[in-house]
Amino acid sequence: MSPSNWSGLPVRPELLDAQPYGAPQLDVPVRLNVNENPYPPPAAARRDMVAAAERAVMEINRYPDREAIDLRTKLARYLGHGLGPDHVWAANGSNEIMIQILEAFGGPGRSVMSFTPSYSMYPEYARDTHTEYLVVPRRADFTIDATAALTAIDRRQPHVIVIATPNNPTGTVTDLDVIAAIADHSDGVVVVDEAYQEFASGPSALTLLPDHGNVLVSRTMSKAFAFAGGRLGYVAAAPAAIDALRVVRLPYHLNAVTQAVAGAALDHADEMLAQVAHMSLVRDAASAALRSLELTVIDSQSNFFLFGPFADRHAVWQALLDRGVLVRETGPEPYLRVCVGTDEEMGKFEIALAQVLRKNDGVDDNERWTA
Ligand SMILES: *Cc1c(COP(=O)(O)O)cnc(C)c1O
Repeated sequence: MSPSNWSGLPVRPELLDAQPYGAPQLDVPVRLNVNENPYPPPAAARRDMVAAAERAVMEINRYPDREAIDLRTKLARYLGHGLGPDHVWAANGSNEIMIQILEAFGGPGRSVMSFTPSYSMYPEYARDTHTEYLVVPRRADFTIDATAALTAIDRRQPHVIVIATPNNPTGTVTDLDVIAAIADHSDGVVVVDEAYQEFASGPSALTLLPDHGNVLVSRTMSKAFAFAGGRLGYVAAAPAAIDALRVVRLPYHLNAVTQAVAGAALDHADEMLAQVAHMSLVRDAASAALRSLELTVIDSQSNFFLFGPFADRHAVWQALLDRGVLVRETGPEPYLRVCVGTDEEMGKFEIALAQVLRKNDGVDDNERWTA
């Protein structure tokens, strides 16, 4: 529905010009736009997931475990670091985790701070929970300027700070020293959004938990675990923080099938992580291939990267789409973002991009765009 179409309904004024969030879901051969894992779960994992779903359906007349204890136990075991189920909370995607965090720690008269460019959902979570949204710009290389961060925290005293590392859409990692300094300096909670941590080579912010009671580490099964369709996000933190999230959750928020199937997928973590290691190699190979086309690629530790520069990135996005390759027009100009597909998909992407760039060398003067 178009926002101009509210027909006099008493919709909140801040929603009047808003559109529902989401990248185009287009049915094209090569889809590299929403950072999904391109591989379905391995066959053995699939079989266990189906069996778990069937067992859950046998009892679907009953409400699910409100506390999702079995799943939280498996998630804690997967994370390691001495965590138990009381350190972990799960919800329908890390999107819901973030909303619950802002319901518990943000809200009217409170604020959330992030470091931009970053995940485009953060301002929407803030809006939806009536939390003021504050931003501190990153440096030109997309790292966080610790001094600027501490100054901004002193001035604005945010109740929630969110740091995506590796950051989306830039792929940039934030050093744990910087996160620790921010957490030490803040009376608010610091959410470290590690949606892509499995693709990174450095240590996780989970190592900060024992000494920082205000740090919450958010994760998702959408990316590394090839579970985007299953909708399972989770967060690790001190039990006191987890208890705050338990207060604001809807009753039975996490359905029985999701709990069971996610648990079965976690039993196959090793196979999933082997795939992740392969995708990290493909990312580095694709980055090198684009650099050899004389493009700039922003160093990334996730399953996507920014590439450019393009004077008219929309035209390049369209030209790739015309060749059956969907990338994402998001994040800082003058770049586009691509995520790691299968080896075959990356080959098609690189060929399409080379064609697009060649055309741009003046072979076809009628092209709508220039690099
Ligand atoms: C993809 C992504 C998420 C995950 O969202 P889900 O709701 O778990 O699918 C969270 N944070 C960032 C930065 C992301 O890119």
